[in-house]
Amino acid sequence: MSVEYRVDLDVFAGNLARVRESIAPAEHMLVVKDDAYAHGLEAIVRRASAEGVRWFGAFDVATGGAVRAVAGPDARIFVWLLAGRDDLAEGIAANLDLGIGDEALLDDLAALPLPPHAARVHLKVDTGLHRNGIRPERWDTALGRLSALVDAGAARFEGLWSHIAEASDADDDAAREIFLTARAAAVAAGLTPQYSHLAASAAGFARAPFREDLVRVGAFSYGIRPAGGPGEAELGIDPISALVARITDVGAHTVRVGTGHLHGLPSTLAGRFSVMTSAGPRRVLAIDATSAAIEGWQGAAIGDEVIVFGRGGAASATDLAELIDTIGEEIALRVSPVIPRRYTSNGPRTAR
Ligand SMILES: *Cc1c(COP(=O)(O)O)cnc(C)c1O
Repeated sequence: MSVEYRVDLDVFAGNLARVRESIAPAEHMLVVKDDAYAHGLEAIVRRASAEGVRWFGAFDVATGGAVRAVAGPDARIFVWLLAGRDDLAEGIAANLDLGIGDEALLDDLAALPLPPHAARVHLKVDTGLHRNGIRPERWDTALGRLSALVDAGAARFEGLWSHIAEASDADDDAAREIFLTARAAAVAAGLTPQYSHLAASAAGFARAPFREDLVRVGAFSYGIRPAGGPGEAELGIDPISALVARITDVGAHTVRVGTGHLHGLPSTLAGRFSVMTSAGPRRVLAIDATSAAIEGWQGAAIGDEVIVFGRGGAASATDLAELIDTIGEEIALRVSPVIPRRYTSNGPRTAR
């Protein structure tokens, strides 16, 4: 194989410990959407479970079911893309925590046959992003519906949640005010949520008042730092993965390695970054469909490894992202599923 995506699960475990310590006493919900940010859901969930992660953020019901199969019956698995009645029924059957940001879903829930155990509902308040969530002016109505479901034994009020932009502190502060007002209204209506959750990686690390009971951390768990923000050292995280390609051809002045834009490497990066070779960093000159040309060096041989980006490389996913005005997740998520994932580990951390 001329290219592989190498994931160091021990480094991942180190990031999990760092996240946990940074957000304590709030709990870490490990976000595993998009195949665990393209690192491979199963291996990531298995290791996180071994490290004591109890909450997973799985996006949709299908992913939630896949997490359940790996993490076992005690894991709490939050999903927040629910299309309607069938999704609800499936989510309840798998005992998932259901993020509900639409009143119509409360009606759907009421229309289902009474489940053997109450559905775990996390009600989402729209705090200003207008993507999804119950608008403040509809909040009392939604609480009324939830209350009826709770009284009927169809639902439990597990959580109150929202999502913030993490773009400016002032906007986030305004969002948090709306969130707290919504919670106060719920409590006044006799509905006290078990868990409140609002923040993702950035606010969870930087802003203590946003941590509430749970912080939904994806990016930082995988060592992906924010574009234009603090560096890995400051955050105490490390990239867990590297795209590694082998030399397929050695020319007079250039060397060819086996990864290209079909594997997810944006061709617009040609000429703009360096890969790490046994002779140090070498500039990438051109990127085609399945290979890239880099500056040559004495002693380069077919089959030698080159770290294209990530752990041990000359550039991280976020470094590359910044060159083309995007975010590190975007680079990470482009790593094609056809590239084999290879996991390294010395086993779970024991001293805890
Ligand atoms: C993706 C996502 C997160 C995680 O965001 P990061 O910045 O990767 O930590 C949290 N909550 C929701 C609702 C998300 O969609």
